[in-house]
Amino acid sequence: MNQITDYTKYNKIAVMGGTFNPIHTGHLVAAEAVRQQLGIERVIFVPSGKPPHKESDPMLTEHRYLMTVLATVTNPHFEVSRIEVDRTGLTYTVDTITELKRRCREDCRIYFITGADAISEILKWKEPERLLSMCEFVAVTRPGYNSSELKKTVNSLNESYRGRITLLEIPALSISSTDIRHRVLSGQTIKYLVPSPVEEYILKFGLYSPDFNSIPEADAINARLHSVLTPKRYKHTQGVAEEAAKLAKRYGADIRKAYTAGLLHDCAKCFTDGEKLKLCKVYGVKLDDVLKAQPDLTHSFLGAKIAEAEYGIRDKDILNAIAYHTTGRENMSLLEKIVFIADLIEPNRDYFKGLDKIRKLAYNNIDDAVISALERTIEYNRERKRVIHPLGLAALKYLKEGKNEQH
Ligand code: NAP
Repeated sequence: MNQITDYTKYNKIAVMGGTFNPIHTGHLVAAEAVRQQLGIERVIFVPSGKPPHKESDPMLTEHRYLMTVLATVTNPHFEVSRIEVDRTGLTYTVDTITELKRRCREDCRIYFITGADAISEILKWKEPERLLSMCEFVAVTRPGYNSSELKKTVNSLNESYRGRITLLEIPALSISSTDIRHRVLSGQTIKYLVPSPVEEYILKFGLYSPDFNSIPEADAINARLHSVLTPKRYKHTQGVAEEAAKLAKRYGADIRKAYTAGLLHDCAKCFTDGEKLKLCKVYGVKLDDVLKAQPDLTHSFLGAKIAEAEYGIRDKDILNAIAYHTTGRENMSLLEKIVFIADLIEPNRDYFKGLDKIRKLAYNNIDDAVISALERTIEYNRERKRVIHPLGLAALKYLKEGKNEQH
């Protein structure tokens, strides 16, 4: 829940739960209508994290949360909680309500508002009876909704819980998130169907556009990575993806692209050196003298080719971030710098000399972090008498010259 809200002052509170992919005017009208009809003082929007009943795209989670904040910010009775988006593992409503109840007065009435379809499945949720004893449910529906499933569910409940589910038709819910996504994909307007800051946000990040949809979902990528990486390497790629997404958020880069590049940066890492060299031939990766002498270094260039051919990545910036994540290069894009740094600082990484300094710099000035990381890598490889790849030397020279020009 929100750390700065004192929930003990309220008599009636509601949680508005949903995926909000994206939030739209129908959700806002529904929340406000329920609030007014039931005399609710505070509505807490809780964008879902990883619900147990369906696959969700972790790359979209932060976008869904931020859009919900943008949509609700002008209503003094609304707030948004990160409780589910920040929870690791599966997110269950019963845990969310338990946490809220802990923060409220004993006699506070708690409501859970969501779509009627979801509530008609409530018997399959975790601890439905405890949930119903802690809060009342408001099932909001679109016009023309067939309520027979929900009625069946209500009738099968123990009599003491039957009165704890209320059905409310909301005409504005003829808008749906699915329709919004289809409209964006087919180039139709979504004006007035979502609040204008949400519309601008969707356009700014290209959410739901054909380009956006051309990036495969994280679950599909992970399923494949699972079978080609060792468990340790798989864990590292999850750490890099999450760190890259955080850095992208810090620097205003595309979070989904950063997450995807992070997931895939080492997709060619676990082949043997012999396999790497063979695959370089198959995919047309040119081998210079340094790569010939150190075949493991090919994994980043080969990874970019494999990400394109086998994982369906078409975005050039993602592919370059994979290709140059080990060496760097002159004039790196922001995404390239983010993946380069995320690879070094993600929390599962074993400690190396200089790591603390790079971690500190990463969120202050990404260029300084890349300079520090390149200097450290060059020193490390020189100590081991390895040839330094010219791309790394060029990257360092370029960034240092850029800094000197600024001064
Ligand atoms: P969903 O996939 O986002 O939505 C299912 C249907 O309900 C869609 O038609 C959707 O319309 C509508 N809807 C969803 N939230 C709504 C809201 N707040 N107001 C009005 N309409 C809404 O939802 P879901 O994933 O089934 O989950 C709904 C809520 O139930 C979430 O908070 C979820 O965490 C919770 N849940 C918990 C458990 C559990 O604890 N085991 C299991 C299932 C669901 P739009 O697409 O237009 O939003």
